[in-house]
Amino acid sequence: MLLKEVCKEDIILERAYCHITKGCYKAKLLLKVNLLPFLPYLRARVKVLYFEPNEILVFKWFKSEKTYNVAINNNTLAVEIVEDREEALEIFKEIINFVNLTWEERNQIVPNIKPVKRPPVLEIYKHLPKTNCKACGEETCLAFATKLVIAEKEVDECPEIVKDPELLQFFKVLVE
Ligand code: SF4
Repeated sequence: MLLKEVCKEDIILERAYCHITKGCYKAKLLLKVNLLPFLPYLRARVKVLYFEPNEILVFKWFKSEKTYNVAINNNTLAVEIVEDREEALEIFKEIINFVNLTWEERNQIVPNIKPVKRPPVLEIYKHLPKTNCKACGEETCLAFATKLVIAEKEVDECPEIVKDPELLQFFKVLVE
């Protein structure tokens, strides 16, 4: 086992910038194990938002209807946004199980060291068709670009991109 179980007292809560007035925290755990050498294995299994080898991995974590941003660096595991310590504990337990399972299965995983840096929204927007056709489920291409950056939309949810193989390839390189 790589990471040990945690309890509520281990969790550090920090106020996060948020549009709601209460219950909006970033939760942190100080790690006793340096996970940096192991990040490429985790990176191969998650929806990555940002990855710099030997520095940090930021990824999406999905639970029921909610999505969390998770960051792991050399000494910290952080999750946002949580409403309270109980929610943070639940998510940390899941992530720790996931990390430990990935560690056990590492011999079957091809580690991925490719950095991921998602481009700014406007950089994405300027390459979109700008027809605001709504086929992606968003009102505008700009809204789609905003969600693409935070991995709440996938490139192939825009039929206009999909039907143009060159554009599709361009976007895959840009955001994946
Ligand atoms: S489907 Fe594509 S072109 Fe249509 S609104 Fe969405 S991003 Fe814009």
